[in-house]
Amino acid sequence: MLTQTLEDYLKAIYEIAQERGKVTTTALAERLGVAPATVTGTLKKLARLKLVVHRPYRGVELTEAGRKIALEVIRHHRLIELYLQQALGVPWDRVHDEAEKWEHVLSEELEDRIDELLGHPTHDPHGAPIPARDGTIAQPERVRLSELVPGQRAVIAEVSDHDPELLRYLGARGLYPRVAVQVLAKEPFGGPVVVRAAGREHALGREAADHIWVEEVRDRDGTAAAGAAR
Ligand SMILES: [Zn+2]
Repeated sequence: MLTQTLEDYLKAIYEIAQERGKVTTTALAERLGVAPATVTGTLKKLARLKLVVHRPYRGVELTEAGRKIALEVIRHHRLIELYLQQALGVPWDRVHDEAEKWEHVLSEELEDRIDELLGHPTHDPHGAPIPARDGTIAQPERVRLSELVPGQRAVIAEVSDHDPELLRYLGARGLYPRVAVQVLAKEPFGGPVVVRAAGREHALGREAADHIWVEEVRDRDGTAAAGAAR
């Protein structure tokens, strides 16, 4: 059984790899709120346990064993978030911090009961896929909302769960997973992205638009559906 800290590292490595591809010591230090030197030391420990490999230029990568543990912790986290929201009515901006603690202590029996009670759910309240019991996980193609061009239509797939303030902001505007959006305009120099969603227009700051992942709506011929502005 790993310590909570080591489990958090494996989870962070998995998540950063999903978001940005390459996992650097700096990115890990930022995510975990610790000094880079601390990260280096802990990575050595994880490498000795054969859970990660750290190669120059390629960054940190999980081994098969490391990935398995990361996905198990992530499964706990996402099931707990959904349970807190659906069974206990905890708002979506407050479930993440609770799940951060519970994910390390959840027994396999309780995990199965929660999964059963929720009807074997596939996504957490923020739209993130829940890994299956066997460690498989759905990874559909997603882009950041800020990467779309005016005219393009998409469906919100997932929002970042790390900032409660952002979640309250998005929730107040009805910007939840599975909501359809269309980009109306995009200001240059990091200016706002104007979208239509849920029948209203919203000028989203670039920081918010960077933390919303969408699935592009494609025409039948497979090209991204875009207006004349493309
Ligand atoms: Zn979370």
